[in-house]
Amino acid sequence: MSLRRSLNFLGNLGNTSHQFAVIGLGRFGRAVSSELHRMGYDVLGTDIDEKLVAQVLSQRMAAHAIQLDSTEPLALKEAGIFEFDTVIVAIGNYLQQSIITTLNLKEAGVPHVVAKASTEIHGKLLERVGADRVVYPEAEAGCNLARALTRPSVLDNFDLDPEHSIVEVLVPEEFHGNTIAELQLRSRYGLTLLAIGSEDKHFQINPLPNQRLDKGMAMVVLGANKDINKLLD
Ligand code: ATP
Repeated sequence: MSLRRSLNFLGNLGNTSHQFAVIGLGRFGRAVSSELHRMGYDVLGTDIDEKLVAQVLSQRMAAHAIQLDSTEPLALKEAGIFEFDTVIVAIGNYLQQSIITTLNLKEAGVPHVVAKASTEIHGKLLERVGADRVVYPEAEAGCNLARALTRPSVLDNFDLDPEHSIVEVLVPEEFHGNTIAELQLRSRYGLTLLAIGSEDKHFQINPLPNQRLDKGMAMVVLGANKDINKLLD
């Protein structure tokens, strides 16, 4: 049971197309590519290193893969990359190549460019050249691990902004056997209960006030982080 990160309605790029191009097939690029491919999307993977291109094809991590230098606008054009609605620039360790590639894509009018940054300054530069979304996978993974270690009752967490989140938490022991109405989550904690989940891995959205909560169930709440922390304490 997991609150899907696709809930990302603030950072949502509104992609309705089923095609993605991934530039850079390092560990991150391969992970993005193979997950999209596994989900049934049409993925074109590219890398300057032909061994990686061959690996991605032989291990079926993308439907198509070609070797090219993404700092060359002509190479991108000939490969049809400018026709994609969403392109992921997964080049974290080569600053210059990452920036030039992103610039090439935006200058050619690619609507949605998602770029991986390895440092804050790298991220700022990517934004300056037009990246629509910048991701920091290592930093995000580190934050998530720290949260999981320190707040084990939080099953999943989605940041709306720095002060507000939607979290999926285990129903606290002291809530066991109470109805939603009895708990008065909004007046006592300032939190909105969006859904409750039972062991059969299904969520009940907008649960009724007379619904009883049991420990072991999951609940999805929306609110300010300080109020969520009060609930967890
Ligand atoms: P990791 O593999 O540790 O996750 P990463 O995903 O940040 O790191 P990088 O080391 O940044 O990966 O490299 C990503 C890929 O980008 C490499 O496979 C590299 O060959 C490729 N790459 C670098 N420059 C270019 C370029 N000009 N054109 C196409 N691919 C490139």
